[in-house]
Amino acid sequence: MKTTHIAAALSCAACAIAQDFVTSKALQSLVSLDELVSGSQQLQDFAYAYPDRNRVFGGQAHNDTINFLAGVLEETGYYDVSIQSFLELYSGGNSTLTVNGAATNESLMTYTPSGTASGPLVLVNNLGCDPADYPAETEGNIALISRGECPFAAKSANAAAAGAAALIIYNNVEGALAGTLGGLGDYVPTVGTDLATGEALLSAIQNGTANAVLEVNAILENRTTYNVIAETKSGDHGNVLALGAHTDSVEAGPGINDDGSGTIGILNVAIGLTNFTINNAVRFCFWSAEEYGLLGSTYYVSQLNKSSEELAKVRAYLNFDMIASPNYAYLIYDGDGSAFNLTGPIGSAQIETLFEDYYTSAGKTYNATAFDGRSDYGPFLDVGIAAGGIFTGAEVPKTEEGQDIWGGLEDLAYDENYHQAGDNIFNLALDAFLFNTKLVAHAVATYATSFDSLPMPTSMTKRSVELSKVKRQAYNGGHGSHGKHHCQSKHEAVMR
Ligand SMILES: [Zn+2]
Repeated sequence: MKTTHIAAALSCAACAIAQDFVTSKALQSLVSLDELVSGSQQLQDFAYAYPDRNRVFGGQAHNDTINFLAGVLEETGYYDVSIQSFLELYSGGNSTLTVNGAATNESLMTYTPSGTASGPLVLVNNLGCDPADYPAETEGNIALISRGECPFAAKSANAAAAGAAALIIYNNVEGALAGTLGGLGDYVPTVGTDLATGEALLSAIQNGTANAVLEVNAILENRTTYNVIAETKSGDHGNVLALGAHTDSVEAGPGINDDGSGTIGILNVAIGLTNFTINNAVRFCFWSAEEYGLLGSTYYVSQLNKSSEELAKVRAYLNFDMIASPNYAYLIYDGDGSAFNLTGPIGSAQIETLFEDYYTSAGKTYNATAFDGRSDYGPFLDVGIAAGGIFTGAEVPKTEEGQDIWGGLEDLAYDENYHQAGDNIFNLALDAFLFNTKLVAHAVATYATSFDSLPMPTSMTKRSVELSKVKRQAYNGGHGSHGKHHCQSKHEAVMR
């Protein structure tokens, strides 16, 4: 995927002929579907080279991804590439559940302890949020509780206090239940299951025949992982455009749309940019451990925030997380707050307008998606940096209106393989992938030329940041199921 553009960049650097100044049209013309596909294939090959077939942070396939990105960018000679390491607690593993001898659907909760339990299932009263909900026969047995009212962690801690050997939480709405206990604690081995399975288990208990064996093999370990940051050697380093995508997947699959699409999209723009001269420096950021709570971008911004001088250099941050969903929509982060009343730092509205104008000029219809900080732009919002980005949808079903606008299928999720093994190269919308990568090129060319369309941050910025942060937190706590970003399912699942 790198040969032609890199060769051009290297040969031009070697021959010292002045490069053309970047334009949107010229940079867009270098975006090629072949390279997007071959780059995606490369990421999938990394995942499939190992038995786990994923690219979770700190795993071998993820480290291969990091090395690949750093190597390609370094090889251009156009970027200063740095690898930023940080340490985070990893949680993974697997579990099995049999009830009356039949294998049953379940998945382990993030941060669950390991353990094996066997015996009758015991139905807990109410929603298990009150220690008094647990009957005496919970002791030594496997508790069963519906999702709802309080965090999973509270249910697991209550079950532990009641002497349960393990806990099964079933969903209170359709769909699998993948949740997190939010961190380490005094918990019993805890798994989640879907509503239909939960109802079957309830029936079995009522029939007096629910003998279960639950085995949880959890991996809990500190892992070192890495962000890759590549900044153009040329351009004004006091006025930087930053943009990013995340390099890690969830455990269930290779993560080729989420977020291989963003990773390979911005990488191809980075390679194309090496053919041009620019005014403003461009910083390409490849984040690790997004899937565990925006850990890489959060760490990066925490380091940046130690120096107000370094912070002030970043004029804007653009995020690209899932840009080729198979049943896609064209969604733009609502930076001006017009649709979701969550306004970003000064400049965010203008970034939204840039993307809107791009779709409009191409004759495409877009919609807004909540600017709620549930991907790697969140930490940038928190320090008052103007931000924006696009998204093609995750687990939320497309509406009839959406089908009329963008085609595809109504009532089917934008990405039915979201966080699944099927998030692979065969399930990318290549037309959206190509179009949105050209949009990335347009934004990079625009801001690498000039930030004139963005207002300068003022002394009022800090105050407006604080206000918007409070509003976003209220939004995230109060609206669990908008499903505007995949991280949401994890965050929502912590809450109830
Ligand atoms: Zn993602």
